Amino acid sequence: MSPLNEVASKESVAAVTLPKHVNFFDTTLRDGEQTPGIALDVERKVAIAQELDQLGVDIIEAGFPIVSKGEIEAVKAIANCGLQAEICGFARAIQKDIDAVLSCDVDSVLTFIATSEWHVKYKLKMTQETVLDKIVTCIEYAKDHGLLVELCAEDATGTSLDFLKTFYKTGVDAGADRIMLPDTTGRCNPRVINAYIHALKKVILVPLSIHAHNDFGLATANSLAAVEAGAETVQVCINGMGERAGNASLEQVAACLLGFHNISCNIKPHLIAEVSRKIERLMKFHLPLNAPIVGKNAFLHESGIHVHGVLAHKACYEPMDPGFFGRKRQFVLGKHAGRHAVQSILTELGLHVTAEQEEHIFRRIKEYGDQGKKVTDSNVWDIVKDVLHLPSEDFLTLKTLTAFTGNKITPTSSVVLSVRGEERIHTASGVGPVDAAMKAIEKGGLLEGIKLEEYHVDAITGGTSSAVDVQVKLRDEINDTEASATSVDNDIVMASIRALLTGINKLIALQRFQGKSKKMV
Ligand code: MN
Repeated sequence: MSPLNEVASKESVAAVTLPKHVNFFDTTLRDGEQTPGIALDVERKVAIAQELDQLGVDIIEAGFPIVSKGEIEAVKAIANCGLQAEICGFARAIQKDIDAVLSCDVDSVLTFIATSEWHVKYKLKMTQETVLDKIVTCIEYAKDHGLLVELCAEDATGTSLDFLKTFYKTGVDAGADRIMLPDTTGRCNPRVINAYIHALKKVILVPLSIHAHNDFGLATANSLAAVEAGAETVQVCINGMGERAGNASLEQVAACLLGFHNISCNIKPHLIAEVSRKIERLMKFHLPLNAPIVGKNAFLHESGIHVHGVLAHKACYEPMDPGFFGRKRQFVLGKHAGRHAVQSILTELGLHVTAEQEEHIFRRIKEYGDQGKKVTDSNVWDIVKDVLHLPSEDFLTLKTLTAFTGNKITPTSSVVLSVRGEERIHTASGVGPVDAAMKAIEKGGLLEGIKLEEYHVDAITGGTSSAVDVQVKLRDEINDTEASATSVDNDIVMASIRALLTGINKLIALQRFQGKSKKMV
């Protein structure tokens, strides 16, 4: 009988007595860094830890010190940068791993050894007795050296319940302060997780954390099931990062605990979107558009019926308030768009139009969508400009762009711009040719008050001659307006600069139309 069936058949599902508070243990810097293709340097690991601390994470697992010198340096830097959170290091149940953790000045160690039959017999080539001896020695050593100890049975959900109970009891008797139940391969469903925790809670008195993986898409559900059965702590990764299909996502678990169960936690929900976006960039791991809470589409409405409904009453199509998570409701225009979305977007742009102009804009957007094209806000802007006869002459035009780069020179760029018909030349250096060109434009004071909020490059076809699609989002902090722009070119520097200039021109045209008085150079 597989251990899963054994647990589910022996243990009844515990009655739900919800805790008042749940702790968040974040493993983005350990399990999250084990996401295929991800590796972080010291600076980025520290920056991520600072973000997680700001967000309100209780325990930050900073890394696995034994793996490299750089990892020791990073974990040590995190432990010594004055964060509020408890800082934890990961270690096998081996003395040299614990020594590496000790060298990092952390508060605690999460130590593990595998316990399932196939791991013990085939991977470790040990007996269960040896496994128990190893954890006792390791826990006593870590405790003697002043560490708080959390004990993990790797592949716990592939382990017989009897041995699992013996394992954790032995560990707690040896001094373990907390235990962690990992669903290492994400094989469990919520009912089985609930049964495991229920069984363990009867015999283990120290706090317990759940570490769920998303192989079947159940990591969030399994984390909630564990909380319902008495787990005090959830182990999560921001943006659901982690090995294979990832770990339970911090944002989803926090949203469920706060939204469904009214269970408190120290996570500050209004910071979730911002921290998620910053860590997405630091990790260079792009979230799918439809990721719950933090994906670009999570609060985006296109269909006319939905837009009308959500404007009539937000509960019609919004199960939670976007603002609670630091997000904004957005409408996108396409062939499913309705009049309400068009009106709402025009209002947001501060544009007052006649009924006839609105009808015209609406029709043009539908035609655009019918051609199978994605209607970006750049397209909408072009349509609006055309219909309203807004001034089409651009404030800024690019006359000449040169950029030099190479392994022996500092990347440098010169731009010749026409600013309201007057020619200006600016030169600057940067970390690469795009940066140098951007800085050259900045040098002329043309970006004063304007912040480049997003810069994103997509190679359209692959290969070195591929056209690249550059998307930028600019924010005019003086007049509180935003503009997105895109540009496609075979040359990445040209595409970047064109997108930037289009965005600046758009902001200026908007200000003129809205009668705002930003002083422009
Ligand atoms: Mn894991």
